[in-house]
Amino acid sequence: MAVDISKFDKGFRNHPSFNQIVTEANKSPLLVELINKFPGKIELGEPGSAGYFEPAVDRNGRVAFGGNGVPTAGIINIDKDWVDQISISPNPKYLGQFTTMLAHELGHACEPEGYPKTNYSMPSDDYVNALLKGEGVAILAEYRVARQLHTQMWSSDSSPNGLQAKLDAELATNRCNFADKASEIGANHYASQSPSGVPHLNYKQYYETWYALAYGHSYTSGEIERIDWKKVKPEHIATKPGANREFLNARPLSLKPPVSALQQGQATCVQTSDAQHSSRSAHETYPVMGAQQYLEQKLSQSRDTPWAHPAPSNNASDHPSHVSHEY
Ligand SMILES: [Zn+2]
Repeated sequence: MAVDISKFDKGFRNHPSFNQIVTEANKSPLLVELINKFPGKIELGEPGSAGYFEPAVDRNGRVAFGGNGVPTAGIINIDKDWVDQISISPNPKYLGQFTTMLAHELGHACEPEGYPKTNYSMPSDDYVNALLKGEGVAILAEYRVARQLHTQMWSSDSSPNGLQAKLDAELATNRCNFADKASEIGANHYASQSPSGVPHLNYKQYYETWYALAYGHSYTSGEIERIDWKKVKPEHIATKPGANREFLNARPLSLKPPVSALQQGQATCVQTSDAQHSSRSAHETYPVMGAQQYLEQKLSQSRDTPWAHPAPSNNASDHPSHVSHEY
């Protein structure tokens, strides 16, 4: 079986790196399978647009899931800079990383629980765990493709303590339920990572914030659900010295148009490159505006506050910098 190139949009197919990508993808049976069963288009996105899977939504803004529990349609966006990199640099690592990153997004799109069904009536822990589980499922696809292509995973560094080394060690000792264990390892890995746009939070805290912001809100009732997390920058998240919470700052946040998958809190995963990671100090503070007040109000009203977790470390250097995901 070979890659069905019609799954890629025209911009992709015309890109100078495209033949290299297809040749490489054809060496991984799993990647071929995932590409060919993906029910949407893989699109060449704007430079800086990162990589993410976004499922299609119906007119009520809800994601349609098929009988196999995966979204019935959607797009995968890939940052043009990353595709350019493959043809610009002779270093084969870019091609390897690219293929595993694509496998990661396809894992979200095509594997059961890769894109979790979530809603705000779920307990916050269930909500957060479902999203982290989705990352674990995507990591498993990424790892399998990396093995088939003998390359390094996008989400891992090459250190002996890196994610890939952990998965190798697990595979060496546990072939029976490796898939479950690997996705658990992947979920735990993600829980400790930071989205590139939100370096002061790890993913667990980020998803909790997301939940808290949208808690009890319908998707048409305000702008908070319309935060375009892809455009959130480090300075939009402020820490308050001495406080045991992180605060979200509403004013500079970009808002999406009213109809979007994001409104129903369907967090999607965005991958970004090293260059976009910020090492900005976590101790900087910013004026506190509407969203914080809203969040505070929601938290004081809610007995089961999703924010009742220990404050994250304020040491920015704690945050791994090699990869970031959002949503
Ligand atoms: Zn992901």
